[in-house]
Amino acid sequence: MQSTHARTGLETRIQALGGRLLAETTRAAADSGWLDALIERSIQDNAFRTQTLRFIDVLPVLQDDALLVAHLKEYFSDVELPWPAFSHWSLRHSGAPWATPIAAPLIRATLRGLSRRFMGGNTLPRALDTIARLRSRGMHCILDLLGEAVVSEREAAAYQQAYLDLLAGLHSGENGAERPEVSLKLTSLSSRINPADPRGSVTAIKERLRPILAAARDRGAAVTFDMEHFDVRHIVLRCFRELLMEDALRDWPHAGIAMQAYLRDAPECLQGLIDWAVARGTPVKVRLVRGAYWDMETITAHQNGWPLPVWTHKAETDRCFESCLERLFARHAVVTPAVATHNVRSLACAMALAERHGLAAGDYEFQMLYGMADDLKQALVALDYPLSVYVPYGETLPGMAYLVRRLLENTSGQTIMDTGVGRVERDARVLIQPVLPVKPKVAPDRRAFRNQPLRRFVAAAERTAFRAAIRAVRGELGHDYPLVIDNAPLAGEERITSINPARPDQVIGTVASAGRQQAEQALAAARAAFPAWRALPADARAGYLRRIAALLVEQRDHFAAWQVLEAGKHWCEADADVCEAVDFLNYYALQAQRLAAATVVELGGEHNAVYPRPRGVGLVIAPWNFPLAILTGMLSATIVTGNTAILKPSSLTPVIAARLMELVRQAGVPPGVVNFLPGPGSETGAWLAAQPDIAIIAFTGSREVGMQLIQAGAQPVPGQTHIKRVIAELGGKNAIIIDDDADLDAAIPGVLQSAFGFQGQKCSAASRVIVVGGIYTAFIERLCAATASLAIGDPRDPGRLLGPVIDAAAQQRIAAAIERGKATARLLTPVREDLPANGYYLSPAIFTDVAPDDPLAQEEIFGPVLAVLRADTFEQAIELANNTRYALTGGVYSRRPLHLDHARSAFQAGNLYLNRKITGALVSRQPFGGFRLSGMGSKAGGPDYLRQFTDTVCVTENTLRRGFAPDVRDV
Ligand code: NAD
Repeated sequence: MQSTHARTGLETRIQALGGRLLAETTRAAADSGWLDALIERSIQDNAFRTQTLRFIDVLPVLQDDALLVAHLKEYFSDVELPWPAFSHWSLRHSGAPWATPIAAPLIRATLRGLSRRFMGGNTLPRALDTIARLRSRGMHCILDLLGEAVVSEREAAAYQQAYLDLLAGLHSGENGAERPEVSLKLTSLSSRINPADPRGSVTAIKERLRPILAAARDRGAAVTFDMEHFDVRHIVLRCFRELLMEDALRDWPHAGIAMQAYLRDAPECLQGLIDWAVARGTPVKVRLVRGAYWDMETITAHQNGWPLPVWTHKAETDRCFESCLERLFARHAVVTPAVATHNVRSLACAMALAERHGLAAGDYEFQMLYGMADDLKQALVALDYPLSVYVPYGETLPGMAYLVRRLLENTSGQTIMDTGVGRVERDARVLIQPVLPVKPKVAPDRRAFRNQPLRRFVAAAERTAFRAAIRAVRGELGHDYPLVIDNAPLAGEERITSINPARPDQVIGTVASAGRQQAEQALAAARAAFPAWRALPADARAGYLRRIAALLVEQRDHFAAWQVLEAGKHWCEADADVCEAVDFLNYYALQAQRLAAATVVELGGEHNAVYPRPRGVGLVIAPWNFPLAILTGMLSATIVTGNTAILKPSSLTPVIAARLMELVRQAGVPPGVVNFLPGPGSETGAWLAAQPDIAIIAFTGSREVGMQLIQAGAQPVPGQTHIKRVIAELGGKNAIIIDDDADLDAAIPGVLQSAFGFQGQKCSAASRVIVVGGIYTAFIERLCAATASLAIGDPRDPGRLLGPVIDAAAQQRIAAAIERGKATARLLTPVREDLPANGYYLSPAIFTDVAPDDPLAQEEIFGPVLAVLRADTFEQAIELANNTRYALTGGVYSRRPLHLDHARSAFQAGNLYLNRKITGALVSRQPFGGFRLSGMGSKAGGPDYLRQFTDTVCVTENTLRRGFAPDVRDV
């Protein structure tokens, strides 16, 4: 830490040097113009900012003039247009058919002008011209080949080639010529980057990077690794360190990496890099930036309940930037400082530090973005400071994403004042030391429901813990689990053997299977426990659920690891299932307490109370695909409302269920309240469903079995005194519509996850994609390439996104459906050569030219099979989407406001998702469930779900006695 004296001295120099810089900027000429006006208005008017950024985002795909004008009208119907007068004119006249061919090219030209402002050209020769121009003005340059995340290995290979071409096209930096510098975005070099699998991700990226770095070294060029979003920081850092420690590169002094000061742990991260650079023995360049993904990092963390990786206040980022600067300049011999900022105070701080440490121009540099803060650039050059300009170039499409990011940066609360597209703020206030905000302490509301945050797997500790849990579970395989009736273990008539679908020779465990006699026993136990359990206050029952939830949280990795091995789930899917189970327990606990409070209506002389009453014994029958979450959800809803339960899990995942039963007992749930009864569904399950004492059947599973249970529920049997309540959540044939203006960079990963996540074995999975109009070919090509890039294999390895299907029967059934499909549609995907020999693996299948009534478009296959249909218009796409017997989930990727509105009202789906994947509903936020043949009942994880497990009674009391009523004064 600096002494106060040293700090004061530094501060004095910051003010002096900053003042000089400001004075110099007043002499510098900068052109402002309509772009500044646009940015100014965006800062003032949020609606305008949103619509403008959205419009710029969609524009490059609008090849058709009429489509472009239609978007323009929809985006700016309520907001005044940002464009120069001629475009404004075009909107006013865009209703007229003659105006469209005039308006569209004008708008495109305007946008091209805007992108030219921030990009150095769309080809390398153009970019080199820009560089030559900047050099003549005394500035060095860094070339940035624009590239966003890639969706397939084919695209990643193309980016690698583009980098190689770029390096080949540069003038060599040897023999005293200026050394060219290139920025590298690592996410464009592999489609297999996965935060949970840094080792696999790093291996894949390094393979593509090695030739690039070798070429850079040969050409005498320098490279800097860009830093992108937080989820991949550990991967970028690891690539950098590992590659530059390799023999071929260890003594190469022309590599650098960006560090982001908006990250809370930036100083520690920088220190780690410094220590590593010392060990390496050759210096590296460190480009210190604030960071360009602040909005996204903040939103992602908030949505997922993760700790915020970035600072909340701009002043905190500013402080952190200065503290990193001090660290950097102090160790300039090992880390060459590259100070990338447009913030005048930060620049002055770096100048003061350079002065203090006696650095010459070649020992450090400033970096600024092309098209921004031009007056500052001129001032720096005039004052003889070393300046490099970051010049992005590339195709319009990836370019637009860059442009949106720059505009976002210029108009967001985090960065205003730092950027300055035109002139910088010349007021001396920009030099004031950042003042940290006083943050009010807000006590968390303990009673509010919060979703259990998923594992992010960015921290090494999380990954290590998960691996350890898998190891621990492997040590527990092969155990035998009993039935549990009245909290006592009981042998069954037979045993169910549960196996690992990725390694069928591995037995997960054996579980007792109940026959008729044990089913009778379980029923008797549940009946006997009912009176005492229903008499408990709702708070007490909710307390049991919370205890189970707490136990589950303690062992969350362990429970997830069981799913990896017993169900073949990817780490993230397994973790999500455990989190959902925890959510159901906590959410239903809270809801049950709310429900139990009677609704009272008082009138003078009359007291009315409406309250729920438990029904009796509930039969819970669960599927295997969410082996913990769905089981826990239906069970907890049954018992928290005062019913007792018989729990029949799927015979394919009985060990996870047996583990849950252990938690139920550990939580102290009284005997007979939950009776664990695995067994053959068609025998034990069906027999129980027909018993007169069963008051509730809570079922999730296939349509066939669901319909049988609904029928059984409707058929009174001798001794039955009530109508059974059947809650049935069934299958789906879910569609995603890809509109002709969809963002394919988002839509392809969304479709991949929806269709092939957990091998398509989710009721919510996408099994149909309906593509509108001219985007079809591009979509299909990219989707197939992306599918071919999905790594397949044992889900114990988190790099394998595709695992096995649940068992041999499923494998055969799905393979047969694919075989039948070939007769009526075109199979686009080949059989994968990398399918593991052992285990129930299948190649993901994408069919095209599928007729709307083809079984591929109508029947639930429940595996990695996707049917692609074409539609001419969005309206027709909606009709096709609705053309099944199901209505569970659905999705739309579109950037057209009217189409999204149309989908909201016309798309038949219980859960509709716009511009995101269609799986992964969260308890409370996205109550889940369908209609039509997808099920009956209120949505799971929603506010009215629990009512179904109760009868509602209303008690009215006449409180009048001989003309006297206690509450007469209230009348
Ligand atoms: P399944 O219908 O084969 O089995 C579900 C459960 O019912 C199992 O426990 C099984 O043993 C039992 N069962 C089977 N026959 C029975 C009978 N005659 N009487 C009583 N019980 C019987 O379904 P599955 O293969 O386990 O799960 C996949 C299906 O579940 C898919 O159709 C999927 O769409 C659906 N699903 C729906 C939801 C939803 O929320 N809508 C969620 C998950 C799964």
